[in-house]
Amino acid sequence: MVSEIFVNACILIAFISLAHLFFKDIEIPYGDSLQAKAVIGISSGSLGIILMLYSVKVGPDIIIDFRYIPVLLTAIYSGWFPTILASILVGGFRVLHFGVSEPSVIAMLNIMLAGTGFCFISNKKISRKSKFLYSMMYLLAVTSAALLIVLKFSLLFFEITAMFCLTNIVVAWVAFQYAEYLSEFIRLHHALKYDAAKDFLTGLNNVRQFDASLRDFSRLALKKGRRLSLLFIDIDYFKNINDTYGHMAGDSMLQGIAGILADSFSGQGIVSRNGGEEFSVLLMDCSSRQALKLAERLMKNVENHEFAASEKTSLHITISVGVSTYPETTKSVSRLLEDADSALYEAKRNGRGKVVLYDSSGFPQEMGS
Ligand code: GH3
Ligand code: MG
Ligand code: MG
Repeated sequence: MVSEIFVNACILIAFISLAHLFFKDIEIPYGDSLQAKAVIGISSGSLGIILMLYSVKVGPDIIIDFRYIPVLLTAIYSGWFPTILASILVGGFRVLHFGVSEPSVIAMLNIMLAGTGFCFISNKKISRKSKFLYSMMYLLAVTSAALLIVLKFSLLFFEITAMFCLTNIVVAWVAFQYAEYLSEFIRLHHALKYDAAKDFLTGLNNVRQFDASLRDFSRLALKKGRRLSLLFIDIDYFKNINDTYGHMAGDSMLQGIAGILADSFSGQGIVSRNGGEEFSVLLMDCSSRQALKLAERLMKNVENHEFAASEKTSLHITISVGVSTYPETTKSVSRLLEDADSALYEAKRNGRGKVVLYDSSGFPQEMGS
């Protein structure tokens, strides 16, 4: 019997590990979509069913296993919908697979009652540890009551209840600690993923993410013969702003520019902060004409924006933009970045507050200001 209980506990822990592997890319609290919740509920219910298939027979049509634990953890980490779904699956299987009898019908009602109670407790604004403790107390109480109905006051009732309580307390505690460890692991995984790709000041893509996107887009442009434009943007005389109004005002201006960029290109391109006061926009399937138009619109948006330099002072700033387009003006996709940078340099050299399109035959080819 001990070995059967041990196997049941191992199945539970192994499935929690697998669930972590499959669900680690779903946001915490695990995905808001109904589909994600349904998948979690079905997975949790399936685990309950597998645990029941490896249960220990302890009395006439009475089996003991850890089927309540996945349902309890689902309530704590994923909310009511997957918990109820899992309870229905486990309860339904208890009757359908093991046959209709008083113990199986009571066991089915017990899991429904337990699942509903777990949902109620997990809905409270208390810590996860408290949710776990209250849910366990509730589980032991309802299950003891269910066993009492089936076995009445008998020696078997006390033996089975003691065994159920003891094994479930130990295994549920281990499973909960493990789930806590994994959920912290997932949180750090998401935070690291975010930090690795995003610029901390503006929330735009950072230069590492820009490099990865440029690589992917270049490969796609080359393979499918698609057009790819790059805008390279630099704020004009930004050092003066820092020197006059301070670094903090400079930072808030960078955030303001990032907001304008994100709004101007939402869903249209990959916007990044490449470093300091330099930004970029990668535009797939965008001709040089379109890219110039978009760059000029961006320049106007920035010029028209009032930036708060201090509580009393607001000011207008300008940007310079270099544009390159593969394959129109840049023949080799690997030169896209270099050519946009040359165009930006040309915009600066020609007085700033300008958009310049790279032209291999000499500057300026097209210019807007
Ligand atoms: P230009 O028109 O030629 O681009 O002139 P500029 O002054 O903008 O160019 P320069 O490259 O000389 O100055 C860039 C300045 O950007 C220098 C640096 O102090 C500032 N800077 C870089 N990163 C940050 C940042 O994260 N926050 C703030 N506030 N300033 C930054
Ligand atoms: Mg600058
Ligand atoms: Mg610069």
